[in-house]
Amino acid sequence: MDKLQILHADMDAFFSAVEQRENPELQGKAVIVGGVNLSNRGVVSTASYEARKFGVHSAMPIAQAKKLCPDGIYLPARHGLYKAASKEVFSILKRYTPLVEKLSIDEAFLDVRGCERLYGNPVEIAEKIKIEVKKKTDLTISVGVSVNKFLAKLASDFDKPDGLTVIRKKDIKSFMRHLDIDKIWGVGDVFAAKLAEKNIYKAGDIWPYSLEELKNNYGKAGVKLFFLSRGIDNRDVKSRSEIKSVSHEETFADNISDQDKLFAYLFKMSEKVSFRLHSNSLKGTTVFIKVRYSDFNTYSRQQSLKVAINSSEEIYQRAKELLMQNDLLTKPLRLLGLGVSNLCQEGQEQLNLFTDENEDQLDQTIDQLKRKYGFDKISRARKLYLNNDD
Ligand SMILES: [Mg+2]
Repeated sequence: MDKLQILHADMDAFFSAVEQRENPELQGKAVIVGGVNLSNRGVVSTASYEARKFGVHSAMPIAQAKKLCPDGIYLPARHGLYKAASKEVFSILKRYTPLVEKLSIDEAFLDVRGCERLYGNPVEIAEKIKIEVKKKTDLTISVGVSVNKFLAKLASDFDKPDGLTVIRKKDIKSFMRHLDIDKIWGVGDVFAAKLAEKNIYKAGDIWPYSLEELKNNYGKAGVKLFFLSRGIDNRDVKSRSEIKSVSHEETFADNISDQDKLFAYLFKMSEKVSFRLHSNSLKGTTVFIKVRYSDFNTYSRQQSLKVAINSSEEIYQRAKELLMQNDLLTKPLRLLGLGVSNLCQEGQEQLNLFTDENEDQLDQTIDQLKRKYGFDKISRARKLYLNNDD
């Protein structure tokens, strides 16, 4: 991929920016949006740029944020408000190309190949998106433009807030050379520490190593590193229907054995997964968790549900059950992850009930569905039912 064709668009400090927009008195102040109930055990969802100056960042425990920034304004998240703003933003993005891959409530990739004749070149499209988002929502968005997803995402992050950064093919080498290694996908704290042992701190430090060497030393992650350190990434932008599961995992700098701390992480990750499901109007009937211990032994467990879910609380509770029931928290963890799969569109989730229900219940369910969703979906449901019966 040589041509500029991928955009990564990312709202700036989204939740706190929405709060600042809603209440002008908050503008220019350190605003920290936390979980729904803002307990000290919760984590920061978004910190305004003013709060970031104090070292506050998302995913930090609220208690720690309060120590760093005692005079900050702490607000509980108002998801309905953010969802509405997100909807406006995405309706703008989708006007430019049908190929919009939603990464979260405030972030997406766009493939704008073939849209030039209608909307101008990719840089012009990025400019138009920024202007339109500002005009319609009174919020700022940063956009990165490049030849692939990886570089577009790096570009959007480069000059936040309100940035527009373009990385052309001829600029890739100079851009990557001095890029901190942990900016590369798949390089977390633990991997970065391993690389530091070999004096690898920047993407350019990878270049002297051959693909074979990296593969032998670090396996799959090494192969990825070989390509990404050179700005090579061939993944396509995928629109929503292709999403198979939504998950999140975290590798800890130090192994964690404190259960409360792990549950706090688990809750934070549930919120992230829930956001992504909600913002794509998806629900799922399988919850899975993953743990890795200090000896690198890795386990995953999953649970199937009769009813599809997407709320953070439900995801959290199911994931917690999985951890407890399987006694997975008896040793310190270096990694914790959770996700939801077997996805369906919101509104169609009840179809999943049909496989193990008897006929009476089925009729009732069909009636309920009919009232709720109208005729089209019901005929599909009946077809499904008949096929099962055959
Ligand atoms: Mg953002």
